[in-house]
Amino acid sequence: MSHNDCIFCKIAKGEIPSATIFENADFKVILDVAPATKGHALIIPKEHFKDIFELDSDTAAKLFTLAAAVARELKAELKCDGLNVLQNNGEVAGQTVFHFHMHLIPRYNDDGLNITLGSKESDPEELQKLAERIRKRI
Ligand code: 5GP
Ligand code: ZN
Repeated sequence: MSHNDCIFCKIAKGEIPSATIFENADFKVILDVAPATKGHALIIPKEHFKDIFELDSDTAAKLFTLAAAVARELKAELKCDGLNVLQNNGEVAGQTVFHFHMHLIPRYNDDGLNITLGSKESDPEELQKLAERIRKRI
């Protein structure tokens, strides 16, 4: 299913041009038009899923195999020193295009990019209780 006004559906169908680095029946991998670093890539399922909560399990299963392969080739080609995998879901999480996609962001020692997470203190008992609540669902 594709969504008429979705930019990534249009990119997936080739209706909008993109710098494409890989394509198969399920995915298109493109370079981000506004890269965080050199080689910033986006893995886009061709089928429209809004976010990770909608992603089907077949696509989800194939996704990380592809992500690992693309990451290795980005590293080989760009000689990056590291790489972040980032995947935003919902406005609050920084999602701006509401068609699921995964970012692969090559990192270089001198790239000046900061995506370090903040951290809060935790209580071991609370963590155990929370883990129990979630574990029951999975
Ligand atoms: P999000 O913030 O939703 O996780 O990421 C959306 C990403 O898509 C951004 O990094 C943005 O630069 C990229 N993007 C948005 N529109 C286009 C486009 O038309 N072409 C390409 N190649 N990337 C896009
Ligand atoms: Zn779409």
